[in-house]
Amino acid sequence: MPDERQRLIARVSGDLLTSGHAIALTGAGISTESGIPDFRGPSGIWTQHPEAEKAAYRSYEKFVSDPKGWWQARLAQPGGILRNLGTAQPNPGHIALAELEKMGILKWVITQNIDGLHEKAGTRNLLEYHGNAFKLRCVDCGARFGPGAFDFEKLQRDDRLPPTCPGCRGLVKSDTVSFGEPIPSTVAARSYEEALKCDLMLICGTSAVVYPFAELPRVARGRGYTRQPIDRRTESRATGIIIVEINAEPTPLTHGGISDYLIQGKTGEILPLIVEEATRLR
Ligand code: NAD
Ligand code: ZN
Repeated sequence: MPDERQRLIARVSGDLLTSGHAIALTGAGISTESGIPDFRGPSGIWTQHPEAEKAAYRSYEKFVSDPKGWWQARLAQPGGILRNLGTAQPNPGHIALAELEKMGILKWVITQNIDGLHEKAGTRNLLEYHGNAFKLRCVDCGARFGPGAFDFEKLQRDDRLPPTCPGCRGLVKSDTVSFGEPIPSTVAARSYEEALKCDLMLICGTSAVVYPFAELPRVARGRGYTRQPIDRRTESRATGIIIVEINAEPTPLTHGGISDYLIQGKTGEILPLIVEEATRLR
């Protein structure tokens, strides 16, 4: 349906241009075109390796009960299942979001991705909700460290694992938020504020089933909900927020009426077309 897609691209571009505080939420789907598999898509990591999903659920528990063992296991398999993360490059979808920020249209990107590709693409106002696979974090004070901040060979040799925070002596783990681990409080609070404040939310490539991230669109939709019917002229509900999804497939947000409309297709194709159209309309 190329005509329908074109119509929706024109519509979202207009909505973005008239918005006062637009933000984007992204998930694993925006990075599949960079060669990083998602979890639940047809070639997703968990679709292919169900045992990896079970292991992921146990990981944080393991860190809490045996941080030394957790670090030993991690250092024994550098890269793990997301081993191609280091060489992955941003794709046209990431670049288009950075471009929308430069144009002054997009105010924040809140991502579930841990791959660092939004930063590589040039997005500045970025909240990495589930952390960053290339960083480490103190679980007590929240300080973040680059991968070279600790000499792991020496720590292993001297039997001094797990690494501890030079500031507060708290335990250090990867910055990536594991299942069961609380979202670092500053990121969680800031993201929630943005969900309350934005007037347009562009949700790109997420199945929106991982909580508490998946609450953000629901919080945005729920605020000031007036149960007004859809306005036939603007086609959106009078709740002071427009929620748009770009996804290869409909999601629970589409089925549950959380989003106003879905542009179905690849983020790497649709987002650049939105930048093009917004540039033309400006
Ligand atoms: P998910 O795997 O649950 O869902 C991915 C969604 O993206 C699906 O709805 C799928 O239809 C869609 N999609 C796939 N390719 C697409 C494309 N090219 N264009 C448009 N849509 C596309 O991912 P999720 O909702 O982000 O949740 C998974 C969790 O796993 C997140 O918490 C995330 O932290 C983590 N994760 C991160 C990465 C990464 O950093 N790149 C990769 C895998 C998983
Ligand atoms: Zn600390």
